Amino acid sequence: MTPNIQYTFVTMISRESLLQNLTFLATQICNNRRWVPGKIVELLDNPTNAGVLGRNIQKGNIIQIRLYDNGNQIEWYHLVGTLAHELAHNLFANHSPEFYKEMNKIHDEFEKLDDYEKIFSEMTGSYYSKGYSIVSKGANTKSTTCTKSICKDTREQRRSKILTALHNRGLV
Ligand SMILES: [Zn+2]
Repeated sequence: MTPNIQYTFVTMISRESLLQNLTFLATQICNNRRWVPGKIVELLDNPTNAGVLGRNIQKGNIIQIRLYDNGNQIEWYHLVGTLAHELAHNLFANHSPEFYKEMNKIHDEFEKLDDYEKIFSEMTGSYYSKGYSIVSKGANTKSTTCTKSICKDTREQRRSKILTALHNRGLV
């Protein structure tokens, strides 16, 4: 029997999960405000989208969010931040003080959602796997134990990471 190899890896979140969870958050916010929830779609690369992270089309009828940057998945902190930003554009077209008040309210409402923390854990890769391979006489058996770790960030740490992410990307 060969030695066990132990490894840890961060799960790559699928495009579908990202969009599903962003849609879930957006729908809750829209329902709270009696807005008709729009469609959350991926903002794809094309010459007019260079450097654009999100776009609100027809007052939230469609919200486009960039999920990948040069092939790398954009972190959940950024995506949540972009979503709140774009949702605030449902009410205010410009980046006025009222716009930012609205954006902050949306973050407060996110925090009150039952599943927000759970989604955050899942989407920030706080789920990880530790596994080992056992190889014997041509038979290749792989055994993986999945361990769930809860997102340890406090509400303030989450919020500050989101705002820092937005700031670094020139959105606030
Ligand atoms: Zn904006």
